Amino acid sequence: MSPTAIITGITGQDGSYLTELLVSKGYVVHGIVRQTGVLTPPRLAHLIREPEIYGSQLFLHYADLNDAMAIRRIVHQVAPDEFYHLAGQSHVGLSFEIPESTCELTAMGTLRILEILRELENPPRMLHASSREIFGTPPYIPQTENTPFDPSTPYGCAKSFATQLVKTYRDAQGLFCCNAICYNHESPRRGENFVTRKITIAAARIAAGLQEKVGLGDLAAARDWGFAGDYVEAMWRMLQQETPSDFVLATGESHSVTDWLDIAFSRAGLRWEDHVETDNSMFRSTDPCMLLGNPQKAESELDWKRTVGFEELVDLMFDADQERVCQELEKTS
Ligand code: GDP
Repeated sequence: MSPTAIITGITGQDGSYLTELLVSKGYVVHGIVRQTGVLTPPRLAHLIREPEIYGSQLFLHYADLNDAMAIRRIVHQVAPDEFYHLAGQSHVGLSFEIPESTCELTAMGTLRILEILRELENPPRMLHASSREIFGTPPYIPQTENTPFDPSTPYGCAKSFATQLVKTYRDAQGLFCCNAICYNHESPRRGENFVTRKITIAAARIAAGLQEKVGLGDLAAARDWGFAGDYVEAMWRMLQQETPSDFVLATGESHSVTDWLDIAFSRAGLRWEDHVETDNSMFRSTDPCMLLGNPQKAESELDWKRTVGFEELVDLMFDADQERVCQELEKTS
């Protein structure tokens, strides 16, 4: 029989890559989708269009993360082997604007899922997509699975709560549940309000003559940026281990916003200095520095290695945005 998985957050960047991975491995995938009125979630459209996949290997169910009754019903119907909990409000900057709903979704949503799974006679293996935001501004680099939590944003506080709960349900309740402590991971499917996509879209549009300038905040800000497709592979490997454990998923390399600008704009044949303006609203009151993850445990225990390097990542995101811009132009001409 095919293994069965439930994914929360299936319409997001990671959810869509994970769905592709699981479908390619023969899983039946059930996605939990928030009711937004969008009939065909854009990141899943290519799978929904496939009659051999949608309705036979991929199913969507509507439920909000605060609707325990609906989630419980889906879990009972599907009886999954694996449960990937990826949903949540994941924009750090935005979590200062909407702290209550961020905590409700990210923290309490995880608690509800753990409680629902705990009640089952045969609980599925569960993966929680945690975040390096739990470390705040960490005391040392690189960070590991043992770095203490010290979050400095509402999103980080909510993720710390959820991450600790996962450990607690593993240790105290015996659930097979794990935290993937993910550093930033990007792709052509990244939301457009993240700095990486904002830069690659701007470079593509400026090169096509559709805009002149882009407003950005702190150009010196640095992150450990990897490719989302690589991170979902590690998530899957985590649930295939004999014992549940937490893993840092990172590249071990730090790059600045300026590095993104250099690569994306030079691929577009432009100088970013001619097009970037300062947007003061994009500066954060607290922004963690020293964010660098150590992927050693994942590399040795999961036999996982990223396949896309930094420059290649910027290039592939720019190329995808350039293609989209060309298609838009063709449609309007
Ligand atoms: P985050 O690491 O999850 O907060 O991912 P973001 O892509 O939102 O931000 C990464 C870094 O880029 C942060 O340090 C931001 O302060 C910095 N940054 C600089 N300009 C911008 C901008 O215009 N938009 C965003 N989202 N971040 C920016």
